[in-house]
Amino acid sequence: MERKTDITQAIKTAGLKVTPQRRTVYEVMQELRHASVDTVIEKVRERNPDITVSTIYRILDSFCRAKVLSSVGNPADGKHYFDITVGNHHHLFDGQKIADYDDPELTRLIYRYLAGKLPGDTNIDKIQVQIIINHLKSE
Ligand SMILES: [Zn+2]
Repeated sequence: MERKTDITQAIKTAGLKVTPQRRTVYEVMQELRHASVDTVIEKVRERNPDITVSTIYRILDSFCRAKVLSSVGNPADGKHYFDITVGNHHHLFDGQKIADYDDPELTRLIYRYLAGKLPGDTNIDKIQVQIIINHLKSE
């Protein structure tokens, strides 16, 4: 899951033109994995101050529409985070920290549990479990 996808290939496969600005945004997301828009803007502009905030917003939006990135809401702060992983996966939330939780068996269990329970004209697009953890207090 941590394997770095070739940036050029990832952008091309999504049907988008490869530009230096898109490459920078993708590179930053590869490093951050999950990041709020503010963090993406900060990190992109550290690398290239010439990229405007509105360009970064436009790139993030096009990446989400093309499924180069997905998004996840963090229940700790109600904020929206961009996610470099687009396939089915779950998340562990530890305060502000978000970690991927990959568990195909859990996903299959939920699919099986829900089979036949949803309205007849629907199917499941995505299953994303949010697991919020806290730390045991040691005295
Ligand atoms: Zn994720």
